[in-house]
Amino acid sequence: MLIVGGGMVGATIACALGGTELSVGVIELRMPEPFDHDQAHDMRVSAISLASENILRNVGAWSGLQNKRLCPYRRLKTWEVDAERAATEFNSADIGEDHLGHIVENRVIQLGLLEQLQQCDNVDLICPADIATIDYAAGASIITLADGQQLFGRLLIGADGAQSKVRSQVGIGVHSWDYEQHALVASVATELPQQDITWQQFTPTGPLAFLPLSGHQGSLVWYNTPAEARKLLAMSDDAFLAAVDSQFPDCLGGITGLLGRAAFPLRRQHAQEYVKEGVALVGDAAHTIHPLAGQG
Ligand SMILES: Cc1cc2nc3c(=O)[nH]c(=O)nc-3n(C[C@H](O)[C@H](O)[C@H](O)COP(=O)(O)OP(=O)(O)OC[C@H]3O[C@@H](n4cnc5c(N)ncnc54)[C@H](O)[C@@H]3O)c2cc1C
Repeated sequence: MLIVGGGMVGATIACALGGTELSVGVIELRMPEPFDHDQAHDMRVSAISLASENILRNVGAWSGLQNKRLCPYRRLKTWEVDAERAATEFNSADIGEDHLGHIVENRVIQLGLLEQLQQCDNVDLICPADIATIDYAAGASIITLADGQQLFGRLLIGADGAQSKVRSQVGIGVHSWDYEQHALVASVATELPQQDITWQQFTPTGPLAFLPLSGHQGSLVWYNTPAEARKLLAMSDDAFLAAVDSQFPDCLGGITGLLGRAAFPLRRQHAQEYVKEGVALVGDAAHTIHPLAGQG
C-alpha cells in the first residue's frame, strides 16, 4: 500500500497500520524541521479535540506531542457581537473531562506521528520524495518518483492535501468554491498568563478567534475579506496591533508583542468520489472546509 503525503492525516493512517501484515510506503515531499523547546511557536497551529487526541493516543503518537509542546483548553466560548444575547460556553467539567482539547502546532503533530511511524517495521517512510508520475490501475498502481525509483501499490491513499496530485492523476474531480475569506493568523505575546479558554466572536465580516498557546502567548485568527486581510498584512507591526486592539474583544487583554502573521485563503472543496477501485482520498485531499469553530 502506498500513502502519498505524510502530513497529519497520512501519517496517522500509516501509524494505525503499523504492526499489521500490510507493507506500507509513505511518500512525503519534505521532513518537518526538528523541534526545539527554544523555538518560537509556529504560525500554523490546530485545535485538536479530545476525540482526535484519542486517535493520536491509539496510534501511539500522543506522547511524541506531549514531550514537545501543547496547550490544553478546558473551555470553548463563542458569541455574536452582542455577547449578552447570543453566547455559548462549553466547559470540560460539565462532561467530567479534564479538558476539551489542545492547541498544538501542526509541525509538532506531524513530528510526533513521523517518530512513531519509524517504530513500525512494516512502514517505510520515503522522504524527501517527489512524484514524477502515477500510473493508476485498479489494484496495481505504479508511482515513479522524481529520482526514477518506482513503487508498486495495490492500494493508493491520497493524503497529499488540498492540491492532491493523486486525486487529479486518478481522474477524480472536485466541487469547490471560494469562501472569499482569508484567515489572517497572528502569533502574539499576551499580558494575560496561559489561558485555558479558546474563543471565537462572530462579526458581520467574519469570526475573530483566540487560541491559547503555552506561556504568555496566543494565536489570533482574524477571518476577513481577502482585500482587508491583505491590508492588515501590509501594515506596520504597530498599526496592526492597534487594529487588533480596536477590533478584538476586551477579554483578549493587552498584547505585548507581535511574533508573526500570515494569511491563508479559504476554499471549500469536496472530491466527487472519496474512493475508487484501488484508491482512497483522505484528509484535505478529500475535502476542505472553513476552519472556524475549533472543530478539532
Ligand atoms: C487557517 C487554518 C486553520 C485550521 N485550523 C484547524 C484546527 O484548529 N483544527 C483542525 O483539526 N484543523 C484545522 N485546519 C485544517 C487542517 O489544517 C487540515 O485539515 C489538515 O492539515 C489536513 O491534513 P492533511 O494531512 O490531509 O493535509 P496537509 O496538512 O496538507 O498535508 C499533506 C502532506 O502531503 C505532502 N505532499 C503534498 N504533495 C505531495 C507529493 N506530490 N508527494 C509527496 N508528498 C506530498 C505535504 O508535504 C504534506 O506533508 C485549519 C486549516 C486552516 C487553513
